[in-house]
Amino acid sequence: MTGDYESKLDEIEAHLEDLAAAEGEDVFDLYYRHADVDTAAHEKRKRDYLLQPEVTETCDNLLESSEDTALRRRARIVRNWVNEMRAQTDEIIDLQAEIQKIVIATKPVLDGEEIPRHQKTKIIFKNDDRERRRRALFSEGPLREQLAARARNLYRLRNDAARALGYDDYPSLALAAEDLTVAELRAIFDTYENESREAYEKLAAEGCARFGFERLEPWDLNYVTEKLTCADDKYFPRAKALPSLREVVRQFGRDLDGLGIPIHEDADIPYAGLCFSIRAPEDVRILVNLQDGLTDLVTLYHEFGHAAHRKFVQRASYALKAGDAGFFAEAMADTWGLLVVRPAWLRAFTEMPAEERERVTAAAEMAYASRIRRFIARQDFELAAYADADGDLAAALDEGAERFLGFRYDDPEYWAEQYFPLLYPVYSKNYMLARVIQRSIHRHLEGEYGELLGEPKVFDFLVENFYADGALLTWKEKLAAVGLKL
Ligand SMILES: [Zn+2]
Repeated sequence: MTGDYESKLDEIEAHLEDLAAAEGEDVFDLYYRHADVDTAAHEKRKRDYLLQPEVTETCDNLLESSEDTALRRRARIVRNWVNEMRAQTDEIIDLQAEIQKIVIATKPVLDGEEIPRHQKTKIIFKNDDRERRRRALFSEGPLREQLAARARNLYRLRNDAARALGYDDYPSLALAAEDLTVAELRAIFDTYENESREAYEKLAAEGCARFGFERLEPWDLNYVTEKLTCADDKYFPRAKALPSLREVVRQFGRDLDGLGIPIHEDADIPYAGLCFSIRAPEDVRILVNLQDGLTDLVTLYHEFGHAAHRKFVQRASYALKAGDAGFFAEAMADTWGLLVVRPAWLRAFTEMPAEERERVTAAAEMAYASRIRRFIARQDFELAAYADADGDLAAALDEGAERFLGFRYDDPEYWAEQYFPLLYPVYSKNYMLARVIQRSIHRHLEGEYGELLGEPKVFDFLVENFYADGALLTWKEKLAAVGLKL
C-alpha cells in the first residue's frame, strides 16, 4: 500500500517540478527579455494541481503509515504546499497581480517630476541634502492613493482564507509551512532587538553627532548607515567583481566556469540580481545588473550563494530540492554575500588602505543592527496589519518604528505605500533571519578553519550540511550543525 503512495508521490513531485520549470522559464523571460508573462496563470495552475484530492490523500497516507523519514519529510513538504494553496483564492491571486502591475506602472513623484524607483532609493541612501532625502522618502503619493483600499482588502482576504482553514490568521498559516509560529517569531524579534540595541544606539548617536542632527529621522537611517558602515564605491569596480568570484570559488577547490551556472551580466532588471533555479541542479541561472560599488558586489555573491545551494543538491525529490524555508534559502545566499566584507577578502581583492579596511570591519556590527532592525520593523508592521486590517495602520507602523528604529513617520498614509508585504507576504523576516543565520555560520566556520578564503573544507562543509540533502532536515535541525538556536 505504502509503495503505491510512494510512486504516486514521485509522480506528483515530478509534475510539480515541470510546472515550476515552465513558470521559471517564463519569469526568466519576463525579467531578461521583458516578455509579457501571465504569472497569475502559473500560480492558478500550480494551485489547481495541488488541490486535487489525490495529492492530499497521498501525503496524508504516507504521513500516517510510512516509517521512512525521507518519504515522510517529502509528504510533509508537499502537504504544506497544499495548505498554502488552499488559501490562494482567485480573488487573492488576481488582486495581488493587479497590485504588482500598479507598483510597476506607478512612479514616485519628486518635486513635481516622475523619477524611477531606483533613483528614489539612491537619493535616500546617498544624497547629502537632508531635506531632499525627506521629500524622496515621501514621494510615493500616487502609489498610496491606489493601494490604500486594495491593501486593506488583500490583508482581509488572506486572513479570511486562512481562518476558513482553521488558522488564527494569515501569518500563522504562512509561518506553519516554515516550522514557525507567530509567537516564536515575536520571541525571535525580542531576542535580536535586545542583542542589536547597543550597536543601533551607537549608530544613531554617531550619525547625529557627525551630521549635526538633533535626532535620527526616517530619512536619515539609510544615509547614516551608508556613511558610517560602508566603504567607498571606488574600491569595488564592476570589472573586478566576477573575476574575484571566480578566484574565490577556485580557492575553494571548484571551477566557476565548469559549474555550468550562466551569469548574464547585461540584465536590465529592477533589482541588482536574481537567481533562477529553473530545474535543479542542471538548470540554474543568474541575472545581474552590476554597477561599481559594494552593494552590487554583495549581490553578485549573494546570487551565487543561491545558485550553489541549488547546484550542489544531490536529492532527486522536487520537494527536497525546493522545500527549504524561505529564510534558510536567503541565509544560504547571504553566507556568500558576507564573504566580501570580511577582512581577508578586502585585503586580497581591493586597494583599500588598511585603516579603511579596519573601519569597515569594525562598523559591521552597526551595519548588522541597522539592517535587522529595519526588517524586524517591516515584518512587525505586516503582522499588525493582519491583526487588524481595518484598524489604524498608521499608528501600527509608528509603534513598530518607534520601538525598533527610534523614530516615527507621523504620516497618516505612509503605511499604504508599503507594497512589499502585499507582493511577498510574510517575507520581510527572511532578510532579518538570513543575517542572523549568516553570522552564525561564519562564526562557526572561522572557529573551525580560521579565515575562510582558500579553505576548500569550507565549501565541503556547506555542501555536506546545507546543500546536498536539500530540505531533508528542517532548518532547526540543520542549524544545530553550527550550534545556532534562533
Ligand atoms: Zn536572495
